[in-house]
Amino acid sequence: MTQRMEERIDLPLLGKDPSHTYRMGIMGGTFDPIHNGHLVAAEQAFDDLELDVVVFMPAGRPAFKQDKRVSSGEDRYAMTLLATSDNPHFIASRFEVDRAGITYTADTLEYLSGIYPKNVEFYFITGADAIAEIVTWRHAETIARLAHVVGATRPGYDLEHARSAIAASNHHFDVTYLEVPALAISSSYLRERVVAGQSLRYLTPDQVTGYIHKHHLYGVLPRRYGASKIAETDVEWEGEVDG
Ligand code: ATP
Ligand code: MG
Repeated sequence: MTQRMEERIDLPLLGKDPSHTYRMGIMGGTFDPIHNGHLVAAEQAFDDLELDVVVFMPAGRPAFKQDKRVSSGEDRYAMTLLATSDNPHFIASRFEVDRAGITYTADTLEYLSGIYPKNVEFYFITGADAIAEIVTWRHAETIARLAHVVGATRPGYDLEHARSAIAASNHHFDVTYLEVPALAISSSYLRERVVAGQSLRYLTPDQVTGYIHKHHLYGVLPRRYGASKIAETDVEWEGEVDG
């Protein structure tokens, strides 16, 4: 691996003491926008699994959302940074946003396991909906080999479905199921509220709401920003929400 962890300013320095095992949580998602459901799941994982840090990684070009409109990586990263900035053990990373092409979790885990020493363990945090999907993801065996999986409860999604999908997989996933304070909210729901002119208060941090309004996200395209602001791989919003 050519790049060392010290060269990435937005990844935590972990693993210095060889006699200690470090635990890095990784919260992946589209985060369009990030909301309190993501934050509460990450915080619960931090506490229950005694993690050292949780790294939020907005997907560059999400593998499963190619047919949908997604805000630019810059906007999703900026909102993630704002939402995590007041928590000393949360970090927002540009890592996937800066990578060209489609984002695959297995590639990210390969990269991380290449730059960190062996005494750093990875805990990939997902909601109950995403955990059932993991077994179908590209190079699922790599995910199973390199990371522990944390499956957080999410209202509207059945953890039993997730359990049976994991059990039916050919790969051995090390999964910890986690009860998180229930928030029946999603990014889709927040986008719908923005389009309808409704408040986002108590659903996402106020700084995120401020950013959404300042940059006219999920509404009309902010024409005053040139195309250069938008990463080439990102699909633009055009005004309507299709979830
Ligand atoms: P969208 O509606 O656009 O799909 P989302 O709210 O599902 O957005 P994602 O960025 O797709 O957000 O999700 C990132 C991760 O966070 C996934 O693992 C998802 O299961 C988890 N997650 C999202 N919302 C919640 C929630 N309310 N409670 C627990 N986990 C959640
Ligand atoms: Mg989702």
